Amino acid sequence: MKHYFILSAFILGVCTASAQNFTRQDTLRGSITPERAWWDLNYYDLNVKIEPEKKFISGHNLVRYKVLNAAKVLQIDLQEPMQITSVTQDNQALEVTSDGNAHFITLKKEQVPGEFNTIDIHFSGYPREAVRAPWDGGFSWKEDTQGNPFVATSCQGLGASVWWPNKDHMYDEVDSMRIRATVPKDLMDVSNGKLESVEENGDFKTYNWFVANPINNYGVNVNMGNYVHFGEKYDGEKGFLDVAYYVLPENLEKAKAQFKQTPMMLKAFEHWFGPYPFYEDGFKLVEVPYLGMEHQSSVTYGNQYANGYLGRDLSGSGWGLKFDFIIIHEAGHEWFANNITYKDIADMWIHEGFTAYSENLYLDFHYGPKAASEYVVGTRANIRNDQPIIGHYDVNQAGSGDMYYKGANMLHTLRQLIEDDELWRQILRGLNSEFYHKTVTTQQIEDYISKKTKKDLSAFFNQYLRTTMIPKFEYQQKGSSITYRYVDIVEDFDMPIRVFVDGNEQWLFPNSEWKTESLKGNELIFDPNFYIETEKI
Ligand SMILES: [Zn+2]
Repeated sequence: MKHYFILSAFILGVCTASAQNFTRQDTLRGSITPERAWWDLNYYDLNVKIEPEKKFISGHNLVRYKVLNAAKVLQIDLQEPMQITSVTQDNQALEVTSDGNAHFITLKKEQVPGEFNTIDIHFSGYPREAVRAPWDGGFSWKEDTQGNPFVATSCQGLGASVWWPNKDHMYDEVDSMRIRATVPKDLMDVSNGKLESVEENGDFKTYNWFVANPINNYGVNVNMGNYVHFGEKYDGEKGFLDVAYYVLPENLEKAKAQFKQTPMMLKAFEHWFGPYPFYEDGFKLVEVPYLGMEHQSSVTYGNQYANGYLGRDLSGSGWGLKFDFIIIHEAGHEWFANNITYKDIADMWIHEGFTAYSENLYLDFHYGPKAASEYVVGTRANIRNDQPIIGHYDVNQAGSGDMYYKGANMLHTLRQLIEDDELWRQILRGLNSEFYHKTVTTQQIEDYISKKTKKDLSAFFNQYLRTTMIPKFEYQQKGSSITYRYVDIVEDFDMPIRVFVDGNEQWLFPNSEWKTESLKGNELIFDPNFYIETEKI
C-alpha cells in the first residue's frame, strides 16, 4: 500500500497471522507453480465495464506472453465469486479446470519457446466488496456528497485477481498494459498511465489508459467518479513530468492548496532516490473514497486534505504534521514498491520499510536532519516486535506490521553506521537504478548494500529482519571506565554504536563478550539514532 500500519497491523491484525496453517490455495496463489513458470508476461489489454447500480463488472483480458519452455497448461487466477466465462487462443475455445481461485487452461496450439502468444479471457461477476479499503480490499462502491457513484478498487495482498483475471504473483510484472474502463457516460474513469482516448457508446463511455512501463498487479486500478482535474509540469531530473490531479468538484480549491506538496515530494525523492521511475506514464493523485494507496502513476488519495495521517502525527514528535502523510508515503512507493517490487510478499518490508523511511528523508530534505531524526525515532513507539519483519515465503504471507517503522529505524541506524550521507544517498539512488523496474528478494537488497558499503551486513539484517530481538547494550560505568556487551543478538552481531562523552563523539564496539575501556570523560549519552536498547546494570 499501502500504508497498512495503523489499521491493519495494529487494529485489525491482518498481517499478524501467527498460526501457520497454510492451505493448497495459499500455495497456488503464493508460489511460482509449474503452470506459471514456463511463460513470461508481456502485455495485458484489460477491458472492463463497470455498472455501479448493479455492483457488477464484466469484460475480457487479452494476455500476451512469451513462451520460455514448451508446456500445455497455463495458470490464471480469478477469485470467487468472479467467474471466467470463456478462454480462447487464436479464436479456439479452450478448456478450463478450476481449483478454487486458480484456473488451469489447457492450450491446443504448440507452445514454441521464444514465441509470443495471446489468450483472451472473458469474465464477469459481482466482485468482492471492500470490507475496509485499502487494507481489506476489493471494490468500494460509494457515493459522493451529491449522490453520484464514487467507486474505486484496492487489492494489495488480497491480489488483483479479486476483480480481474491475471497471473497473480508478484515475481512476473507485465511489461506494459492497457486499461479500458467503460463507465456510465456522466462519470469518468481514472486508471494508471496516460489517457489515450475516450469513446462514447450509448449510455456509457470507455476511457482508454495506457501504461508504458512494467506494473505490478495490485498497482492496477480503476477509479470512477464525477472528477474534475487540473495539472502542472514538473521540471525534474529526466525532463518535464506531467502531473495531474483528479478530485471531486467540491474539493477542487482544497486540492489546489494541499497538492502543492506534490512538487515538494518530487524534489525530495528525486534527490534521495533518483528520477521518478515512470516519466512516460506521468504522475497523478486521484481522490478516492478510502484513505489511499500506491497505485502506480495514479496514487490514490483520501486523507481529507489535511496534514498528518488523518490529521494525526504518527511520530508524536510534531514533525508528522508538516506533511500530508498520504501524498508523501504513497508517492514514496513509486520508488520502493512500484519501481523496486518484492517478488514475494514475505519481503514486503522492501516496500514499507523504505517507504516509511522516506517520510523521514522528506523531512530531512525540507526541514533538516534534526527534524528527520526526531520523526523516525518518534515512530518507534509504534513498533511491537511481535514477529519478524520477513514473513513466510511461497504462501502469499506478509510478515509483521513492524516492516514499517522497525524497517525505517533499521535503515536510519544503517545510515549512522555508514557515516557518509553522500554514500548513503548514492546507495538509495543505486538501488533504484540497479533494480529499475525489477522484482527483487531481500537477499538482493542486502547484497547490494553490503557491496556498496564494503561491510558484511548479514548479521545486521538477520537481527532486525529475521528476529524480534532488539540488541540490548548492557553496561557498567565507574567514572570514565565502561564495561559493556550486547545481549539479545544473533550470532556475529557486533554493530558499533556512537555515544557522546562530555559532549564529544566516541564509538564503542560491543559484541557478545564483556569488554572494558576508557571513556573520554564521565557524562555518557547514547546517540538516539541507533535503534538499540540500553541497560545500566
Ligand atoms: Zn506503504
